[in-house]
Amino acid sequence: MKADAFRRSDDELMRLALDQARAAEAAGEVPVGAIVVAPDGATILSHSNNRVIADSDPTAHCEIVALREAARTLHNYRLSGCTLVCTLEPCAMCAGAILHARIARLVFAARDPKAGACGSVLSVLNHPSLNHRVDVVEGVLAEECGALLIDFFRRRRAKIAGDTAAATRPASE
Ligand code: ZN
Repeated sequence: MKADAFRRSDDELMRLALDQARAAEAAGEVPVGAIVVAPDGATILSHSNNRVIADSDPTAHCEIVALREAARTLHNYRLSGCTLVCTLEPCAMCAGAILHARIARLVFAARDPKAGACGSVLSVLNHPSLNHRVDVVEGVLAEECGALLIDFFRRRRAKIAGDTAAATRPASE
């Protein structure tokens, strides 16, 4: 298969999503990133990170932003045959959007035990009552992508604890 010779590996694609996650972190957002890949398995249609704070938009998860950009690129609201790669298991909103976009393949890194809707908390994809099937691959660079999130939340908790301690300290100190 000559065409397959140009396909990017899931690891390579996840590295690109991870770059987006790091960009999110640098912007003060939760470090999660996503990219959409064309059916050829090589062309990157869009890449995005979380933008909920920057856009004051609760729906601006990296997956939604990446799906929107890819659809605009293709001038088509259906992304049939495309792959969505993201560093964290999509939530219910994003899993719903994946179905609406007819994404063929989802590759994600770390599971989200609190809000994941692709097997952890909910199983929105491949529900027996729904027609569209998504080929799901999980665990690609899971440790690296998960560590980025764990470190981020650890630092954030430490900062909140520090701020609280400073606020409750007597003025004479
Ligand atoms: Zn989401």
